[in-house]
Formats: sequence, structure tokens, C-alpha cells
Amino acid sequence: MPAENNAIKTGAHPDKNTHDNIRNFTIQLKQLGIAYDWSREIDTSIPEYYRWTQWMFLLMYKNGLAYKKKAKVNWCESCQTVLANEQAEGGKCERCKNPVAQKDLEQWFFKITDFIEDQKIDGKKIEGLLSGLDDIDWPESTKVAQRNWIGRSEGATIKFQIQNHKSRINSKSQITSSKERLEVFTTRPDTLFGCVYMVVSPEHSLISNFKFQISNIDEVERYVETAKNKSEIERMDITKEKTGVELKGIKAINPVNGKEIPIYVADYVLSGYGTGAIMAVPAHDERDYEFAKKFGIEIIKVVEGESDEKLFTGEGININSGFLDGMKTKEAKEKMIEWLEKNNVGKKATNYKLRDWLVSRQRYWGAPIPIIYCEDCGEIPVPEKDLPITLPIDVDFKPTGESPLAQSKSFHDVKCPKCGKPAKRESDTMDTFVCSSWYYLRFADPKNDKAFASKEKIKKWLPVDAYIGGAEHTVLHLLYARFFAKVLQKFDYIDFNEPFPKLRHQGIILGEDNNKMSKSLGNVVDPNEIIKEFGTDVLRMHVMFMGPFDEMKPWSSKGIVGLKRFLDKIWKIQTKIVGAVHELSASSRESLTNEPRKLLHKTIKKITEDIENFKFNTAISSMMILVNALEKEKEISQDIYANLLFLISPFAPHIAEELWSRLENKESIFLEKWPKYDSKLAKEDKIKLPIQINGKVRDIMEIDIDTPEEKIKEMALKSEKIKKWLSDKNPQKVIYVKNRTVIIM
Ligand SMILES: [Zn+2]
Ligand SMILES: [Zn+2]
Repeated sequence: MPAENNAIKTGAHPDKNTHDNIRNFTIQLKQLGIAYDWSREIDTSIPEYYRWTQWMFLLMYKNGLAYKKKAKVNWCESCQTVLANEQAEGGKCERCKNPVAQKDLEQWFFKITDFIEDQKIDGKKIEGLLSGLDDIDWPESTKVAQRNWIGRSEGATIKFQIQNHKSRINSKSQITSSKERLEVFTTRPDTLFGCVYMVVSPEHSLISNFKFQISNIDEVERYVETAKNKSEIERMDITKEKTGVELKGIKAINPVNGKEIPIYVADYVLSGYGTGAIMAVPAHDERDYEFAKKFGIEIIKVVEGESDEKLFTGEGININSGFLDGMKTKEAKEKMIEWLEKNNVGKKATNYKLRDWLVSRQRYWGAPIPIIYCEDCGEIPVPEKDLPITLPIDVDFKPTGESPLAQSKSFHDVKCPKCGKPAKRESDTMDTFVCSSWYYLRFADPKNDKAFASKEKIKKWLPVDAYIGGAEHTVLHLLYARFFAKVLQKFDYIDFNEPFPKLRHQGIILGEDNNKMSKSLGNVVDPNEIIKEFGTDVLRMHVMFMGPFDEMKPWSSKGIVGLKRFLDKIWKIQTKIVGAVHELSASSRESLTNEPRKLLHKTIKKITEDIENFKFNTAISSMMILVNALEKEKEISQDIYANLLFLISPFAPHIAEELWSRLENKESIFLEKWPKYDSKLAKEDKIKLPIQINGKVRDIMEIDIDTPEEKIKEMALKSEKIKKWLSDKNPQKVIYVKNRTVIIM
């Protein structure tokens, strides 16, 4: 959609736009010396690629995982399309940031909710979206955010009977109980005795179903109308005063005590979550409490906690609760569920916030959905041999709320694959997130025209060793790609179901003024300018050296010169090379076999580990220490210099390659093996040893590694700081934990 929105703005065809962008990105990536295997380049906008996206749609369709239904969906007026819940988080369109409205529309969904929990098929276990998170190496905050988005909660569903008071005209009101029951989900069935009213969302069917029984229906409908114009953010805003209207003429019966309680419509209850209705327990829920206070509703406390506050949301002991009195929350929950089940008015239930993934869009630039509608045969999937269904080019792609593809006769009018009669093609396209949910698999086998990738190549290359991407994809791409992998594993196309076992997020580089770079603030740094002045290698190293990889940090133009000097030093050291070790003068040989060689091996160890841990800034620091030491030497053996070049090659590839060729090497440095370190030489020989008195660190000594225990204890007790803390008292015990710490008691 970004490509398409841009096309609409500029008037150019999205195909041109997309390919212009690809060309630009290619130039930039090459200029930055990014090691990318261009023979594996993929382009999701060409039919050779999206044919497999359509194939995956059919795989889902044939297995009941892709379906069409009418539902309340998110509609972006400015983008003129529906959006997935994940693209409308917080009630705003992910693309254009405008508020999203709710509309009843018939749309295509993928059944992502089928994959929340683990499943077993013929002895094969498919780990669910929830448990799969437990053992992948992802930032903890991302896992938490994904778990929260899935939003699993345990509790019970409870059915409340509806009473309706008829014939109000005859002052004597007649009560009839309707068959309709109002169902709610609650995580706190233990508080049912404290439920004193109910709330339905403005969209709830109860309102239309009881239209003729609700005596103040005009007022109610006015309220519903106002609520419709509010965004979800506004409705969820806890700082806003609660609003609502009682549905007069009908009541609900609390099943546990038979009490007649009022029903309200209020916009703080959303239709998309749970059943769109709640049992309100004002004594133990914040929003219910606010609402009850405003509407003067009785508040009955049913859980006694530590505090005496009127509102208590924690766990405690049940009171005012009949057969639950005296029970702790956990036990009370179980007992209540037992009671509900026995009396057939409710049951134990698990609820999730996650909804099925809405994938259809009323837009042009996406993979067409491979479905045909025939008047006689109904909904027919396109036969696999007819794929790909290519996007027509003879349409106006500007969004009108209806799919642009419907305008193309050549596209829209087809023959039914089953009976041959005239039929219509589905004119919605799939969201771009569908294409990106499986692209990583295509890299393994980018030109395959028999399958999305061959099984052997998938086995050889996947899953992805290390994946880097922004945290903004947490409940979009990172969730969808996991879902796709689980589907493909279930149907035996791949043998893993977590596509990205190791994930890291890159930090964002802010403008020098600590604000996000933006044209309007005039704080955008143009990498081309830096490259022109200092070269690509300096830019690359500067970006890596600015701070930890995953942190947000401001751009600093100060450090650039320092890195330029650093690379200059490496350049200059080449004059000190004297060939092999045995060609060194006696004094240099002596010095080289000791300090610099040791430091080299320590540096190899450090940089090897740092790269694996994405600590590029500290890797560069240790390079600097090594280069400073080498600079002080009169002569340097060629093998040490070569090793230095290996170490800098991933960071400053251009200078490394040039210096490598000056050592009269014919082949590229990137065909060489990464250096190995000698663990004896790489070992630290001095360590910092904390000395603790009664559990508190009072001094730190630097010692030679493996100093004998007696000597260490002696040194520790002689330390001035320690003496002061001991103040002439003799310690009872001195313990030395080898190379770790000294404990004095
Ligand atoms: Zn939008
Ligand atoms: Zn037909």
C-alpha cells in the first residue's frame, strides 16, 4: 500500500514507482557495500512471485483456513479500504495515521486463531503462536507485546436471562422472560454475586432484537449513533467521563442470586472483544466503578482484600457471596464455574483478543485473490494450473472504496472453471503483508517455478539464522510470518514452525537534535553527503560506533572525523610491514611474539563474540585498542597485519579489500576464512577482583590471573580500604572464589 499511496499522489503507475524504488535501493545497498547475494534478489510485485502467494491462499482455502464472512471491520476513509486489526492498533490506520471507522462488510479472513494453541496431527506437534514464543531468542519486550496482542485469558462464559416488562400502559407491569440470553465472558466469575448491572456495546444485537420492548429506544438509538462516530481510542480513553443509557423496559437476571439488574448501553464496551457485553462488578473493576458512581448504581463488595478502598481489583477472600463466602479467589473461581456448569448457565472458557486476520483489500496494488463466483456453482477456487492470476494494467488504480479490479472487463469477466458459464472474478486483492509473510522462504530457491521453494533447498537454508527488523512489526509481519510457517508445517511443506529463531531490532538513529529525522525539522542527515566527504567505510563504521545496535540514538557529526583518522592509521601502518615474522629485526621479533600477538588474539576473540551478539560498537573499540598498540611498534609482521584486515573487513570492506590486494593477494579478502584465535594467547592475564565484607563490595584489586590463593588473601587483608572497614577487628573467615571474588566475614 505505501507504493500505491505514493502512486496516487504522484499519478505514476505503482509498477513504475515500485521499480524506480527498487533501482534506488539497489544503488544505495551497493554503495554501502552491503553483502547481498544479488543472484537471489526477489520482487514480490511480479507474477512469478505472487503466483505462490495465491497458491498459499488456495492451500488455506482448501483446508478451511481462508474464508469469507460479513463482519465489523476497520475501514480507513482516507485509504478507502478495510484494514486488519493489526493495522488499526489503537484505532489509527497504520499507513496514514487517520482514525479508523467500523463498517459491516463481507471480507476474506485467514484463520490465524486456529494456531494460537499447540495442536497434534498424526503424532506431529505444531507449536502454537503462544507456546512457540517461549523458546525463541527474541527481545523479551517483543514477546510480551505479541502475547498481549494474542491476549489469552481464562475465566468463564455466563448467560444472563433477559426479562421484559410488557404492557407498561396498564400500570401493572407484566413480566415475561424471553428465551434470549445475554452472554458475557469474565475472568472473575468469583465476583458474580457483586454483579449489579450489565453493559452491552452500542453495536450489540440485543438492542435491535429488543427494539420494541425498550421503552426509551429513541434515546438509546441517539446514543448508538453518537458512539458510531467515536474512534476506538476515544472510547477506550480512561480519562474521559463514562457515558451510557439504560435500556428501559428490559432487565437481566443475575443467575446466581436471581436479582433483577439493569442493562445499559455504553461505549466503553467494545464489540470486538469477548461477546460485546459485560457483567459489571463496580466494587472490583475500575471502569465499572467509575460508571456506577456516575449513574448512582449500588456497589456491592464481594472480595475482601488487604486495603479498605471501595474499589479493589486484586485477589482476596469472598464475602457477601453465599456459598463462596470465606473462599480465596482461586478456589472461589473454581467453585463458581462448577456451579455455573451444574446449573447450565455458564462454563469454563478461555478468551483471546486475537481475531482472524482480515486479508482482503479494496485496492489495486496487491496479489489478486484466486476465487471465481458463478451464479450456479457459487464460490469456486481458481484451479492451480491457472495461476498466476495477474493484475490487469487497464484500470484506474485510484481507490474509490470499491476494488479497482472490478472495472477491468478482461479481468473481471471469466468463465466458471466448473460449468463454463459466465462468471465473475473476485476483485479484491490481498494485503501486501500476505506476500511478505513467506518471502524469506523464497530466498532459498528464488527462481523455482514448480514450487514456492524446493524441500531440499528449504532444508539447506532455513530457518533464518538471525533476523533483523523493526519493533513496529511486532504484531504485523512478525506475527503473520509465524502463522504462515505453522500452516506450512502443518501441511508438511516445511519441517520447522518458527521462521526466525533469533531476532534483534535495530535502533533508530535520530537527528542531531534528538528528534526523529524529518524534512520539516530540517534534521535529516543525507548519507550521500557523508559518503562524498568521508567515504562509505567511515559512514558504516560511524553508524556502528554511535552506540548499542538496538538503541535509539542521536546522530553525531563529531565522531566522524575520529573514525576517519582511525582508518587513516590502519592505512599508514602498512609502511611498517616487513614480511614474515622471521624477517623482523631481533628487537621487533621479541616484542611481537609477546604483547601485540597476545593482544591480536584477544581482539579476535572479542570481535568474534561481539559480532555474534550484535555489539558492533564495542567490537570497533577493541579494534582501536589493537591499532593503537600496533602503531607504537617499529615493525609489524605481515600475518598480524593480515589478521587486522580480516577483523576490519566486515566493518570497512572497501579499505580492507584494497589493503589486502596491496599485500599482493589475487583473490578477494571476502573469500578468506575468518581468523581463529589461540585461546591460550587470548586469555586475559589480569583480572579485577572484588573484595566483599559481609556481602558488600569494599575494594577491587587487579591481580595476575591464577595468583595463588594465599597470596590473594594476604593482598586483600593488606588493602588500605579493607583495613579501614575492618578497623582492627580480626576477620572470622576469608574465602577466595577463584578468579571471581574474595569474601571476608
Ligand atoms: Zn489509512
Ligand atoms: Zn459454474
